[in-house]
Amino acid sequence: MIEIQNLRKSFGPLEVLKGIDLTVAKGEVLTIIGGSGSGKSTLLTCINGLEPIDGGQILVDGTEVHAKGTDLDRLRRKIGIVFQQWNAFPHLTVIENVMLAPRKVLGRTKAEAEEMAVRQLTHVGLADKLKVYPSRLSGGQQQRMAIARALAMSPDYMLFDEVTSALDPMLVGEVLDTLRLLASEGMTMICVTHEMKFAREVSDRVAFFHQGVMAEIGPPDTFFDAPRQPETRTFLAATH
Ligand code: ADP
Ligand code: MG
Repeated sequence: MIEIQNLRKSFGPLEVLKGIDLTVAKGEVLTIIGGSGSGKSTLLTCINGLEPIDGGQILVDGTEVHAKGTDLDRLRRKIGIVFQQWNAFPHLTVIENVMLAPRKVLGRTKAEAEEMAVRQLTHVGLADKLKVYPSRLSGGQQQRMAIARALAMSPDYMLFDEVTSALDPMLVGEVLDTLRLLASEGMTMICVTHEMKFAREVSDRVAFFHQGVMAEIGPPDTFFDAPRQPETRTFLAATH
């Protein structure tokens, strides 16, 4: 489980996260929505220790992410993260790209890494693209390869940061279907997204970030049909 307590984060004079309290249970799907600059990406990068924090704490399975003695490499293996875009190694095939981290980071044998890569690429619907080069994939296929690459590390948590935002609208659906599949399999997920229909269908809870504050959080029906905060109403009205 991920427990965030009074998390504060600034970049110089700019306070980006102003005391976030949030717990994500095992198996839960949390989606985060909110305007540009509200601190969503910063939250995700703090959770896997990519950014130092200025106050509060984050616990992942009881381990304090930003404590001095914490083995961040070990912690990050539990937490897969997928961004808007991932630049695959262009000179490696799809399967070679997915095999890389299990080989280098987990020390898997070639055969083990290959088996895992085939399994995860099949999982995301790319079984017929193993031997092609990334440049031959569509944007949606590239994002599914990025998801397979993260899954090949056997993470306990997956963080998705606007993974469909850079895609041609025609290709958004196939990536969302992959996220739906993972959710249905019980993966613990935090998804930052602008896809409201997806958020409503897939989430256990939806959170709304506004100017560094988690202004509202609740189950999707309540969140979308009866938001309590005026900021949430304004945001939802603007996105419909
Ligand atoms: P969101 O993902 O909600 O759009 P971000 O978390 O990316 O928001 O950014 C929140 C604020 O922090 C923005 O004002 C952004 O410009 C600023 N910011 C993000 N990363 C950095 C950084 N590395 N250095 C300085 N400012 C940053
Ligand atoms: Mg962002």
